[in-house]
Amino acid sequence: MGKNLYVTTAIPYASGAPHIGHAIDYILADIWSRYWRQQGREVRFQVGTDEHGNKVAAKAAAENVTPQVYADKMAGLYAEFIKKLNVEYTDFIRTTDPHHMGAVQYIWQQLLPHIYKSTYEGWYCMGHEAFFTDKEVEETHGVCPDHQTPYQHVSEENYFLRCSDFTDQVREAIESKKMQIIPEFRAKEFLDLMKDGLKDVSISRPRKSLTWGVPVPGDPEQVMYVWLDALANYITVLGYPDKPGWQDYWPANVEVIGKDILRFHAGIWPPMLLGLGLPLPKVLLVHGHVNSGGVKMSKTVGNVVDPNQLIDEYGVDAFRYYFARHIPTQDDGDFTWEKFESAYNGELGNDLGNLVQRVASMVTRYQAGVIGAEAVTGEHDMSAYRAFMEQYAFDRALDEIWENVRALNQYLENVKPWEIAKAIEKNAEEKDHLEEVLAHTTGSLLQIATELQPFMPATAAEISRLFASGVVPGDAAPLFPRRYIHTPDPRAPKVPQGA
Ligand SMILES: [Zn+2]
Repeated sequence: MGKNLYVTTAIPYASGAPHIGHAIDYILADIWSRYWRQQGREVRFQVGTDEHGNKVAAKAAAENVTPQVYADKMAGLYAEFIKKLNVEYTDFIRTTDPHHMGAVQYIWQQLLPHIYKSTYEGWYCMGHEAFFTDKEVEETHGVCPDHQTPYQHVSEENYFLRCSDFTDQVREAIESKKMQIIPEFRAKEFLDLMKDGLKDVSISRPRKSLTWGVPVPGDPEQVMYVWLDALANYITVLGYPDKPGWQDYWPANVEVIGKDILRFHAGIWPPMLLGLGLPLPKVLLVHGHVNSGGVKMSKTVGNVVDPNQLIDEYGVDAFRYYFARHIPTQDDGDFTWEKFESAYNGELGNDLGNLVQRVASMVTRYQAGVIGAEAVTGEHDMSAYRAFMEQYAFDRALDEIWENVRALNQYLENVKPWEIAKAIEKNAEEKDHLEEVLAHTTGSLLQIATELQPFMPATAAEISRLFASGVVPGDAAPLFPRRYIHTPDPRAPKVPQGA
């Protein structure tokens, strides 16, 4: 890897509120970014909002505001959400930024040799802002199952991007891992999907069908349709093509996406880049979806989990922890209140929180807060942790950290510092022994904090605050205090029968 690193996240469509799926994108990118910043790397980290299209225009009309005013509101909502997740991005791109719009028109012109005009015949769902095949429409009896609205039959003039010009190059890039799709099974899925070649895609619609978008250069009757506009954000945010410095960060080291948009990121975006003569991103990290109790989250089922509620109730680090560890980094995962509260109270409260609290209070009680012997850091082997971090298996990296947390708890159970403290009365030499034990323990905690920092920045900072200076402040508040809000507290007294 070069010195400068670049990570991107998918830009959500600015017509709905942020949900868990968006949070996963941001958290995975943030974990990666914080990990490399710890190693002294310069990391550029893009987030943003995709603000054009009919749905945004329709929502704005329903609120009786202009699309731009509506988009401004939504961009603010996402910025606030990302901040709440404690995500340290560097750039927020909006597809209504004048620089972006100008750059997209420039990109269009560069791609002209691969663009042609043709009649599009097909079925359109406005809820999706996407076209569907005859087969898909037939299977759903003409009604979009997600939006409960009939598909509209559309026959119109569109411009198309001839992605098929790049089939061989894209296949080669994926097979050779020059553009590595992680996990491997997603690469296989995509290679299978493109076995008959990449499909050309519609990149514009007539102005009468699409009013809110970037005008097609040289054809006032046509407006750009979502993908070209949205995908270009990953380079326009860096300043492409006219602002100096974008070359320092492109190609991206990793683009974080959900599995549902892999086919656009592997099938449209690389042809765009190849048409522009630009290198492809090095890694597409594809995460899965979060189900709730084994079922897809949906308003109809009523099992949608609001990320804001979780953060408000348990804190942002608990939120980041659960979705980084208990949702597999590279596959689908499941959320239930039982699993969440069990991880919160057990792993965070008990394993980690109590450990920190216990150690702080022992140093305070036995040694007046002075750690004494020099803290020994770097004792446990971090190579497995590092390997998982660098292979984008963040869930496994957290498993490694918890091995260390459990080992440290076990160590305290074995050496019993409280008994060493008692023995000092009879044998003064035990004082040095106790100091060594506590120095070893606080050193290990500091090392755990270093490993936790990309995942739980506030928790890592608190552990460092307690133990890094050599004197433990007397104000250690419990980390992750017990909380059973949605499931019964197993320690709560049982209500007697018939009471
Ligand atoms: Zn739909």
